[in-house]
Amino acid sequence: MTSEQTTQIRNLFPLLNQKVNGNDCIYFDNAATTQKPIAVIDAIKAYYQTSNANVHRAAHTLASAATTEFENSRKAVQTFINAKHAHEIIWTSGTTEAINLVAQSWGSSQLVAGDEVIVSHAEHHANIVPWQQLEQQLGIQVKVIELLDTGVLDLSSFERLITDRTRLVAVSHISNVIGKCNPIEHIIQRAKQVGAKVLIDAAQSIAHYPLDVQQLDCDFLVFSAHKMYGPTGVGCLFGKSELLELMPPYKTGGEMIKKVSFNSGTTFNVLPHKFETGTPNIAGIISFRAAISFIQAQKEASGYEASLTAYAYQQLLSIPSLNMLTNGQPDIAIFSFNIAGEHQQDVATYLDSKGVAVRVGHHCAMPLMEYLGVQGCIRISLALYNTKAEVDHVVELLRNFLNQGVKKVAKASVNHSKEKIMTLFESAKSWDAKHRQIMLLGKTLPTMADELKTDETLINGCESAAWIHITIDRESKVNIVAFSQAKIIKGLLVIVLAAVNGKTVENVSTFDFHEYFNDLGLLQHLSPSRGNGLLAIVEKIKRAVNKPL
Ligand code: PMP
Repeated sequence: MTSEQTTQIRNLFPLLNQKVNGNDCIYFDNAATTQKPIAVIDAIKAYYQTSNANVHRAAHTLASAATTEFENSRKAVQTFINAKHAHEIIWTSGTTEAINLVAQSWGSSQLVAGDEVIVSHAEHHANIVPWQQLEQQLGIQVKVIELLDTGVLDLSSFERLITDRTRLVAVSHISNVIGKCNPIEHIIQRAKQVGAKVLIDAAQSIAHYPLDVQQLDCDFLVFSAHKMYGPTGVGCLFGKSELLELMPPYKTGGEMIKKVSFNSGTTFNVLPHKFETGTPNIAGIISFRAAISFIQAQKEASGYEASLTAYAYQQLLSIPSLNMLTNGQPDIAIFSFNIAGEHQQDVATYLDSKGVAVRVGHHCAMPLMEYLGVQGCIRISLALYNTKAEVDHVVELLRNFLNQGVKKVAKASVNHSKEKIMTLFESAKSWDAKHRQIMLLGKTLPTMADELKTDETLINGCESAAWIHITIDRESKVNIVAFSQAKIIKGLLVIVLAAVNGKTVENVSTFDFHEYFNDLGLLQHLSPSRGNGLLAIVEKIKRAVNKPL
């Protein structure tokens, strides 16, 4: 792809043209969700402006137009994955719901105690917890495939696990952390030899690799529209017709019935409606077709994606202290790593202050983090609209962060007061300056005695952990000792402690953290969407002073 073609693609995505924290937006969190092309946004708008009506329910013209569009999207998905029948495509709210549907409908009706379901250590929680639930409900056994040092499923481990009690193998085509293709063709063929069914979680792969469910011969395939340049709240379950026919409804209510009667009983609708109760995400489903068209139109860009992946991998590896979680270059542009001596969250917040979106934490794959012996990692994930220039810029930012950035700051005083903090932040206008100020303050947090770091004092955010130990003395004064490995959290803790330490229980219980953070221009850190757990820290303080022990 030429640079003009890349620019043309970027121009289809309006969000990418905005500034974030005063910098050009660099969106490197595509494995979480991709941005949406204008065609998808227009399709949502057009639906609401011209054909909004409920589907499958009324005979009027608008309803019939909406239903036609809705079913055309189903046909588009059918063609996209080469399913034999349109009714093998069931709309769900996403991959998670699709897997839950299979677990609760197929699993609950077909499995009995002692049956085995095989997953892998690399699965997203969405492909672990539904099976663990069945373990509890039915007494089935969940077995887990080991990984090679590349992060790919170890087929010899699979071979050791598979038995004639194996009823289902549920694995991802590509893990959201590892970015490498698993040998699903082999797994499907081997599972068939023992009569087991196979569910493929294609959430990460389907935007990059065309999948043909007839050729693969998998029993179930699941994915989400929002990782394919489509809308959120829309997902698909492909299931082979004969299996879906056997399966009982998953949710019940309107539309999924043929007849409802208090006298002569209730019967269920035919496929696919048996699994689609209630009003669906009509606008989302209709606009999903535009996303599929976008992917199909970019087929020739697969060479570009491959070269971008190879380039980004080499550039990242050129940072000596950067350690990839697994060996070898990923097949799609998902790079998960840690940087020696740096907390993942500090790296992410630094990049965020420069307009770069990456994800850190356990990535909804806690068992994988445990398996690889890390608490979490930084993940950079690219899409078609990302460029080598963006990669260069981010690599340069990482080098800056490591070389001079936040590391070479002097140790400052530890005596902070709320007023002093307010003064410091008055002069820090930009997000960049505020970020630097937080990091400087983090340097001043005294270390916490190891014996105070207990399960009771631990607060687990998604991205980092913190410990907070609260005591109240005889004069009702609050004294808090707190710690975190992430410098950004240390800084935020200094800000919190400056406002509450040495104050009376009454003062602290009426203290308005919301207003305080708002005045500092840091309100976003108290948002429930932040993975850093600051909100939980503040809530813990509030609970302690409202119910002193
Ligand atoms: N499986 C994989 C491999 C994923 O990457 C994700 C999303 N991160 C999911 C399942 C869950 O998808 P959703 O949140 O869209 O239901």
